[in-house]
Amino acid sequence: MKLSDLGEFGLIGRIEGRFPQPVSPELGIGDDGAILSPSPGKQLVVSTDLLAEGVHFDRSFCPPRLLGRKALAVNLSDLAAMGAIPRWFFLSLAIPQGFPLEDIEQMLDGMSAIAGEHGCLLAGGDTCSSSSGLVLSITVMGEQFPGLIIRRAGAKTGDDVWVSGSLGDSSMGLLALKSGESVDPWLINRHLDPAPRVGLGLALAEAGLATAMIDISDGLLADLGHICRQSGCGANVFLKDVPVSSPFLAKTASEPFPWHLVVSGGEDYELCFTASPASRGAIAELAKKSGIQAGIVGIVTNSGQVQAQLPDGTDLKPSSSGYKHF
Ligand code: ADP
Ligand code: MG
Repeated sequence: MKLSDLGEFGLIGRIEGRFPQPVSPELGIGDDGAILSPSPGKQLVVSTDLLAEGVHFDRSFCPPRLLGRKALAVNLSDLAAMGAIPRWFFLSLAIPQGFPLEDIEQMLDGMSAIAGEHGCLLAGGDTCSSSSGLVLSITVMGEQFPGLIIRRAGAKTGDDVWVSGSLGDSSMGLLALKSGESVDPWLINRHLDPAPRVGLGLALAEAGLATAMIDISDGLLADLGHICRQSGCGANVFLKDVPVSSPFLAKTASEPFPWHLVVSGGEDYELCFTASPASRGAIAELAKKSGIQAGIVGIVTNSGQVQAQLPDGTDLKPSSSGYKHF
């Protein structure tokens, strides 16, 4: 069957059939609007992300199932950074004429799988044709008690700067995909199938331990810069303490160490957060419980700038601060 035989409403039917729906008195796909009820006392946390073919992904090396997973994963990562519990999402699709239906279905299957892993229900969306590439936009809604939501503003001078997981894997994976060079498939997977740190973000929020938090999509230095701007502070990052994975280390053993991939490569989807040094023990405990490594990489200062020190004590001159769209 082709997309043109199925038509818009046939496709919406196939979408609906793949995702469990909110139940009465709530309402998901099918009417002019969804009807949703956040838990009593909680606020909604809403975030949206758009993925455009040729800008955010290349279909020649991104299997449709993983594209579907990643489209939702990057949105869930935003909820993680606020300490919110995922509840619902909306999916808008612009699909080129003649796009293989099988690829759309695999993409939906990938998305449905990660939605299930995080208990996030598809509650609606929009579908139209595209005159250029595939465009996918997701709006995700989560919830949390107002006092527990973690913002970018809130970092204080003297706080530790923490990072989860390891950095640079995704951009090294992407470089290998582009060049065709062979690397550890784990690095490729870190780029194609990032794991949003929802459990860790939520645990930090519930424990009230983080003073500010962001997910690292544009690179540590750029994203920590957002925390600093919104908190009215600066930060000093000690690069020797920034966590890198063993596959990353193995790949770079014979070359000058690519710090720019680690701190500015982007698409890490790890969490960067600040916390009082008094919380060190509690955070280490909580990270252990959530099964995600977390380490201190720097300190919040009153300098108004983000500085990064190389292991030899000199300052890193950042080559770029995040992806520039325009
Ligand atoms: P409208 O004309 O009001 O935009 P549509 O005919 O586009 O309504 O959509 C009908 C129903 O299908 C709505 O409930 C909408 O939320 C849902 N829907 C449309 N496209 C999608 C999609 N890509 N994913 C999930 N739900 C969708
Ligand atoms: Mg519509």
